Amino acid sequence: ADADRGAPTIFDKIIAKEIPSTVVYEDEKVLGFRDINPQAPVHVILIPKARDGLTQLSKAEARHEEILGHLLYAAKKVAEKEGILDGFRVVINDGPTACQSVYHLHLHVLGGRQMKWPPG
Ligand code: 5GP
Repeated sequence: ADADRGAPTIFDKIIAKEIPSTVVYEDEKVLGFRDINPQAPVHVILIPKARDGLTQLSKAEARHEEILGHLLYAAKKVAEKEGILDGFRVVINDGPTACQSVYHLHLHVLGGRQMKWPPG
């Protein structure tokens, strides 16, 4: 239900280090860690440490502009660190129709293999 999408998620526990993750990028605003079910040789999840109502991109408001830009630039830094700057993909799944499963905004940074288009 839509109401459940404001509930805490597994990513809160990852941010709090209550459950382990392999962190590949971190700064004061965002955290990047390896996806537990990788869809490519490099698959990093990049999240804002403060969700601030950003359960999904479609809930974005003007106050989120800065963190949204910060996340996208951090995605480039993740790609650089992971050695996939020659070709990578950034994905945001928004809502059930797009297979979003965790309601804390996140970017998927994928690479290390040839990607297909359209993704399906
Ligand atoms: P979504 O489907 O919402 O766009 O993506 C959520 C992603 O989070 C999935 O790719 C899933 O594998 C990943 N994920 C879910 N739970 C965990 C977890 O506990 N640890 C890690 N590292 N990734 C997770």
